[in-house]
Amino acid sequence: AGAFSHSTEKSNEKLLGGLLTSGFDEAACASRYQSFLYRKISAYKPSPYLVSRLRNYEDLHKRCGPATQAYKSALEKIHSGHKLGSMDCKYVVWISYSGLGNRMLALASTFLYTLLTNRVLLVDRGNDMEDLFCEPFPEKSWLLPTNFPLIDQFNSFDQKSPHCYGSMLKNNVVDTSTESVPSYLYLHLVHDYGDHDKLFFCDDDQSLLAKVPWLIVKTDNYFVPSIFLIPSFEEELSKLFPEKGTVFHHLGRYLFHPTNHVWGLITRYYKTYLSKADESLGLQIRVFDTRPGPLKHVMDQILACTLNQKLLPEVDMQDSFVMPIENPKLKAVLVTSLNSGYSENLRNMYWEYPAMTGEVVGVYQPSHEEYQQSEKQMHNRRAWAEMYLLSLTDGLVTSSWSTFGYVAQGLGGLKPWILVKPENDTTPDPPCRPAMSMEPCFHAPPFYDCKTKRGIDTGALVPHVRHCEDMSWGLKVV
Ligand code: GDP
Repeated sequence: AGAFSHSTEKSNEKLLGGLLTSGFDEAACASRYQSFLYRKISAYKPSPYLVSRLRNYEDLHKRCGPATQAYKSALEKIHSGHKLGSMDCKYVVWISYSGLGNRMLALASTFLYTLLTNRVLLVDRGNDMEDLFCEPFPEKSWLLPTNFPLIDQFNSFDQKSPHCYGSMLKNNVVDTSTESVPSYLYLHLVHDYGDHDKLFFCDDDQSLLAKVPWLIVKTDNYFVPSIFLIPSFEEELSKLFPEKGTVFHHLGRYLFHPTNHVWGLITRYYKTYLSKADESLGLQIRVFDTRPGPLKHVMDQILACTLNQKLLPEVDMQDSFVMPIENPKLKAVLVTSLNSGYSENLRNMYWEYPAMTGEVVGVYQPSHEEYQQSEKQMHNRRAWAEMYLLSLTDGLVTSSWSTFGYVAQGLGGLKPWILVKPENDTTPDPPCRPAMSMEPCFHAPPFYDCKTKRGIDTGALVPHVRHCEDMSWGLKVV
C-alpha cells in the first residue's frame, strides 16, 4: 500500500495536482511532465471544480477543434450569416499581438473567458507561438488553421473595423431586438480601446455576445480582474478559484509548456547555475528608459531593496580578512535584463568583498539583448526561457509595469518585491514594496458602472479586486 500511495503521489505531483491530464506523448513536449522536477510543489492547489472544468473543456475541444465536423460547419456559416443551431460549437479566436509577456497574459485571460462562456479557444500562431509553446489540449490542436477565412484581416482589425463590436455600438448598428446576430464579431480590447469597446465588461453586452458563434479578440492586457466584476460570472469564478489570487498561477501552468528547444535552454541553464545553490533569488530588471544602462539610480535602488529586505547579504567593505568558511552557503542570483551592467556590478561586489553572512553569492545573467526585438525567433525563445527560469527561484524581485515579471511570479507562485518605478532619475524611497498577490496587473481597466452608466472606481467595488501596487490605475485580483 505504501508503494502504491507513493507512486500515486508522484503522479499527482507530475500532473500538478490534477491540473494536467495524462496521455500526451512525453517526448513531443518534455517540459509538460518534467516541470515538477524543477519546481517546488505549489502551495496553491487547483480546486477540484477547476480540474473537472478543464477536463470538460478538453472534451469540448476534441469535439469542436480544428479538423472536426463541428468546426467545418461553423466555418461555413461565417460568411453565410445564418444563425447556428444551438447544439453547435462556438469559438473565441485569439489574435497574436504585442510582446511575449503581454501575449501570455492576454492569452490566459482569453482562455478564462472561453471557459466561462463554454466556447472553444483557437490561437492565431503569429510569428512564433508554435515555436514557443506546446499544444495544451489533447488530440486537437489549439492553433487556428491557416486557411481560416478572416486571417488576413487580423493585422488590420482595429477600433474602427466594421465588425468591431465597439464601433458597431457606437454607430448604432447592433440590433438587440431581433434574433439575427452576426456570425462573427471583433472585440477590440487593446490598451487604446474606447468607451464602447469597454462595454464588453457589462452583463447586458455579454448576453448579446453569447449568441455570436465567432468572437475574435485582440488584446495586450490581462483583463481577468474586470471579468471578476461581471455579476453573471461571479458564482462560477468563485467555484473555479476559491483562492482568488491564483488565476494566472493555475491557468498559466495549465496552458504554457515550453517547446523542447526552449526546455533545453531552461534545463541546461538551471542545472549549470541554479540547481546547486542552497537558495536562489530572481532579479528582473526592466528599465523603461531609452538611455543605455546601467543607470546609477537604478543600481542604487536594486541594492537598497535587496539589502534592506535581506534578500541579499551586506558585504564587508572594510576589507578585514575573515577566515573563509569551509562549506559556505551558496546563494544564486538570476538576473534578467536587456542590459548587462546591473549584474556585472553585483557580481563584482560579491567578488571584491566578503558577504557579512559568510555566504558566497553567484550572479548569473543568461542574456543581454540590449534592446527589445520582439520579432526575432531566438530572441523570444530566450525571453520565454528567462521568464521560466525566474519562476523557478525561491524569491523574486520584479520591476514595475513589466508583464515579463508578472509571468514569472504567476508561474512560480511567488509574491515578489516590486521595484517602485523611479521618477526624475532618483532612487525611490522605499525602493521596493511587497506584492499583495502573485496575480498580474490589468493595465487598462474600464472605470464604468454598467448599471448606473456612470464613471466609478472599479478598484473599490469588491475586496478581491484592487488597484495594483505598481500602477495606481491598474486593477489586480488579490
Ligand atoms: P514588458 O514590456 O516588460 O511588459 O514585457 P513583454 O514580454 O511584453 O515585452 C518585452 C519584450 O522585450 C520581451 O518579449 C522580450 O523579447 C524583451 N525583453 C524584455 N526584458 C527582457 C529580459 O530581461 N530578457 C530577455 N531575453 N528579453 C527581454
